[in-house]
Amino acid sequence: MKRTEYPVAIRNLIAQLRQMPGVGPRSAERIALWIVRAGDDRPELISRAIADTRQAIRSCRLCGFFSANELCEICADSSRATDLLCVVEQATDILPLEKTNAFRGRYHSLGGKISPLDHVGPDDLRIKELLQRIEQEKITEIIFALPADVEGESTTNYVVDLLKDKPINLTRIARGIPAGGGLESADELTLSAALSGRTKL
Ligand SMILES: [Zn+2]
Repeated sequence: MKRTEYPVAIRNLIAQLRQMPGVGPRSAERIALWIVRAGDDRPELISRAIADTRQAIRSCRLCGFFSANELCEICADSSRATDLLCVVEQATDILPLEKTNAFRGRYHSLGGKISPLDHVGPDDLRIKELLQRIEQEKITEIIFALPADVEGESTTNYVVDLLKDKPINLTRIARGIPAGGGLESADELTLSAALSGRTKL
């Protein structure tokens, strides 16, 4: 006798859901069955929210943060300091730093870090965009807030080397940001202390 399985459409849905981060086989199955059995239009609302968000959100032209416009809220905020720039690995590192309230400048996400093993070189990162900003904006200090792992270090060193002859103070946040976990996993107090205890490069 043939082993009974869910119909193809449900199996497909489970396979699609499993692509989401943090969703394992059991969760994918539970979500799929919830979708199939929902007595209202909540599944449709979720699917519309996914489509709307995909369509509406892009990367800020300057810093790379999530934005519905060409410039994100941070870059468009004229009350922020324009001479201070904080360089981070990912757009997702920006909000944890914002939550500390310890930084009133602007950000620049590189979109990754130099990692030869993953075939990520300097040209794959938003380094060219950073150099352009430095030409166009009056930046007096750049704070590097990249992870304290090997790739984060070599990325910081690479960019610092490009900038060392410019009249800009180059600093890095104090150690204490857990390597690997990135800024997302650091608590606000640690981040705030790391920002105020920054050191010269
Ligand atoms: Zn921005």
